[in-house]
Amino acid sequence: MKQFALYNPASLKEAVTLLGSDPARAQLLAGGMDLLGRLKKRLDTPERVINLKSIPGLDAVREDGGTIRVGPLVKLTDLAEHPLLWSNFRAVVEAAASVGSVQIRNAGTVGGNLCQRPRCWYFRHRDYPCLQKGGATCFAVAGENRYHAILDGGPCFFAHPSDLAPALMVFDASVRLVGSGGERTVALEKLYHVPRERLNAGLTLEPGEILTEVRLPAPAVGTRSAYFKFKEKPSFDFSLVGVAAALTFSDGKVVKARLALSGVAPVPWRALEAEKALIGSALDEAAARHAAEIIVENAGPLSHNRYKVALTRTLVRRTLLGLA
Ligand SMILES: Cc1cc2nc3c(=O)[nH]c(=O)nc-3n(C[C@H](O)[C@H](O)[C@H](O)COP(=O)(O)OP(=O)(O)OC[C@H]3O[C@@H](n4cnc5c(N)ncnc54)[C@H](O)[C@@H]3O)c2cc1C
Ligand code: SF4
Repeated sequence: MKQFALYNPASLKEAVTLLGSDPARAQLLAGGMDLLGRLKKRLDTPERVINLKSIPGLDAVREDGGTIRVGPLVKLTDLAEHPLLWSNFRAVVEAAASVGSVQIRNAGTVGGNLCQRPRCWYFRHRDYPCLQKGGATCFAVAGENRYHAILDGGPCFFAHPSDLAPALMVFDASVRLVGSGGERTVALEKLYHVPRERLNAGLTLEPGEILTEVRLPAPAVGTRSAYFKFKEKPSFDFSLVGVAAALTFSDGKVVKARLALSGVAPVPWRALEAEKALIGSALDEAAARHAAEIIVENAGPLSHNRYKVALTRTLVRRTLLGLA
């Protein structure tokens, strides 16, 4: 690990100033589950590490006029166990509880989970200067790509690792971002972009911006949700595929549908066409199959991950039918 100076700011303002606008020189630290690994492997060699944990008030979950406000330093364990989420945000609770192991959930934070960098093994290995690190090649294309994206891939094919992001997305979550130019609030799905012209690990965060809050509006009456994840290692593992669904029912029919997936694309992937197809359906076997088919119809698997197409189809169908 290259030596760096650790800063413990007392306020967001101070953190923004310390962070500056060059990510090569300064990085934020939350739970450290992702950042410390990258520092140890010298994937990142910042001069300054800014510890967000010294800023008071960023680790609370509270309700404000029906909206749930989640601080970026809320631990995944605390999110999974929070009474404000248990009744109305089942998919978020299930997704948070599905992340890694107990130890990882006890240290990993909401903000860190949403802003974590690709888990692609070429990205994580310092000897592979891939596209995401300024190189000229995506080594996954001709290499070991069994965990990579089947949707929206190219030129970079990593599969987004966050279980939490899709679960928050199906509740139309938004995030507050604070930087030197002020603050902005964007839909959570706008925090991500398919890394093509601008790679940046698929994040739309501007240099120097800090995620300071996740906002969850109250879901409509009649909304049911779930998060269903398949992992290779039963004890703890990232999603091979994860499916978040939130469906609002009225008179036995779906009137609003949100579906988002992890592990299949370089972003937490919103299934817009499948959502449209579910509206007006009674969510029977045929409707669930049809939605699942729509999601995979444009899949472009790589040489070793065709299995993810069948897995996605099955998980989407099962998640939906579990809500019927
Ligand atoms: C062995 C292992 C298994 C895992 N399994 C899973 C899994 O199954 N599912 C899953 O979803 N995740 C998994 N993770 C990821 C883990 O859950 C953490 O969420 C993640 O590593 C980062 O959280 P953190 O709080 O430790 O963030 P850090 O490591 O501190 O930060 C992560 C990145 O986000 C940036 N960052 C942190 N907070 C902010 C903020 N507020 N604003 C802007 N940028 C910020 C940091 O600069 C850094 O680049 C796993 C991690 C490990 C090591
Ligand atoms: S998938 Fe993306 S992160 Fe992985 S080797 Fe290719 S360019 Fe790098």
